[in-house]
Amino acid sequence: MKKILNPTFLMLMVISFGCAQKQNNTAVKVTKSEDQWKAELSEQSYRILRKGETERPFTGEYDKHFEDGVYRCAGCNQKLFMSENKYDSKCGWPAFDNAVKGSLKFDVDYKIGIPRTEVLCSNCGGHLGHVFNDGPKETTGLRHCINSAALEFEPKENE
Ligand SMILES: [Zn+2]
Repeated sequence: MKKILNPTFLMLMVISFGCAQKQNNTAVKVTKSEDQWKAELSEQSYRILRKGETERPFTGEYDKHFEDGVYRCAGCNQKLFMSENKYDSKCGWPAFDNAVKGSLKFDVDYKIGIPRTEVLCSNCGGHLGHVFNDGPKETTGLRHCINSAALEFEPKENE
């Protein structure tokens, strides 16, 4: 009897299907039109999350905010950072040494001429800020420098 599919071809099919699935898993889940985002977000949150802008240092609502709770994405409500990972970096923006697992995506940003690692929400692709290697050495060594207007704080008792 004539072979219809040879095993190598089948293997390749399985491998390429596996890769396609992997790509789908890293794609953002929440997608909205620019008009929808504009209608739902405050003007400042829209400029930061959707246009990649940065709020002025020392002006953000959560810069000097150290209550217990969780910081969610202002665009899609995904849990991003826990208050126990927030620390006072004195850089002018909220800083976290770690994030909720799987909540972030990373990209390279050349906006100021030098490459920086951009931090995005993994669920809606919103721009949150950048991550640097000058964080607390005793924990992760990372400083996630995040715009307050990209976040929504939820106090612990409401969780
Ligand atoms: Zn989001």
